[in-house]
Amino acid sequence: MKSIKDIEIKEGEKIFLRVDYNVPLKEGKVTDDTRIKRTIPTLEYLLEKKPVLILCSHLGRPKGKVVLELSLKPVVERLSKILNKEIYFSEEIIGENVIKKINSLKPGEILLLENIRFHPGETKDDEKLASELRKLANIYINDAFGTCHRKHASVHALPKLFDKKAAGFLLFDETKNLKKVRENPERPAIAILGGAKIEDKIGIIEGLLEVMDKILIGGGMMFTFWKAMGKNIGKSLLTEDFLNKAKQFLDTGKIILADDSLCAESLESSEIKKLTDIPENMAGYDIGESSIQKFKEEIFLAKTIFWNGPMGVFEKDNFKKGSMEIAKAIAETTKKGAFSLAGGGETISSIKLAGVKEKFSYISTGGGASLEFMEKGTLPGIEALK
Ligand code: ADP
Ligand code: MG
Repeated sequence: MKSIKDIEIKEGEKIFLRVDYNVPLKEGKVTDDTRIKRTIPTLEYLLEKKPVLILCSHLGRPKGKVVLELSLKPVVERLSKILNKEIYFSEEIIGENVIKKINSLKPGEILLLENIRFHPGETKDDEKLASELRKLANIYINDAFGTCHRKHASVHALPKLFDKKAAGFLLFDETKNLKKVRENPERPAIAILGGAKIEDKIGIIEGLLEVMDKILIGGGMMFTFWKAMGKNIGKSLLTEDFLNKAKQFLDTGKIILADDSLCAESLESSEIKKLTDIPENMAGYDIGESSIQKFKEEIFLAKTIFWNGPMGVFEKDNFKKGSMEIAKAIAETTKKGAFSLAGGGETISSIKLAGVKEKFSYISTGGGASLEFMEKGTLPGIEALK
């Protein structure tokens, strides 16, 4: 995979730049511009070469239809402010009108295309859509790490049609840091897993077991393991299909499982009990004190730490302690020289809530993408760039 520094860019040359501007919106305004800001180094580098820049992104899940609330228009204002530069916008994504518009742009100007997922071909990795997009530019650059695990037209079918293609600084940085964890990490290397999207995540444990010395499991994921050990878990999260896998993973001896849980009848209930076996009418919403201590001991010894998935329902004050303590322990260990990497939407929110975001070695912009990279060492969007 080439970096943008490895390719020649001539003044006025047209570049198709796939970015991940899948940002949160409220009443037509961008509420968190982290993802926009992370592409600025790439944009600034490219702008020095004075190409015509065509930016493409998705936003949310419009399912192949125009959904006004998911328009990328609000990004124009924010990006324009950050770069202190006019940003042009095209509601049409492909076709003669866009090509005309692009041809009218001067070197150094930027056009943002409307949400690529308004086109039904995007999520189908449609070759026809790709060949239409191919007509817009001469160079393809991908800086959308958070989307690289998807076989979608603008990240997968499209780059295959270009000879001149490269990764932007963000994509390059993400892969560099994830590789640092995955290939030859300083040991002990540990992964900490939690969260709620268990079906998506249990599968990667297999890959992680080959790389990591230990895997700490808390969050909603822990109860499938508890159940596999024969414990009662009440109404806690469970992924039945993975009970057998969970048993196999436990047999490796590399799993450090949370051994107590803060439980309640519901998230609203103020009556909270610390349990190791959960009655039918209750569910576990955070890890307990014993688990926190056990996890901290492992974290303090580690030299490499990968974290995805909060330890509990940190959005509720009663159940945030586990995630806060783990975030702070990782920050402390990082200060002493360990390498720490975290990814995942809610994981990052919980790190922000703990006030230690700046103290991590690296925060990945991709949740699903970073997990899949940890499992496989590559992603479809990266392969298509090679
Ligand atoms: P990420 O976005 O970091 O990849 P997930 O989307 O998998 O993580 O999961 C995040 C969610 O998991 C959080 O909103 C949190 O409330 C929830 N969660 C964590 N522990 C539990 C639990 N024990 N029961 C129910 N939900 C949980
Ligand atoms: Mg999430």
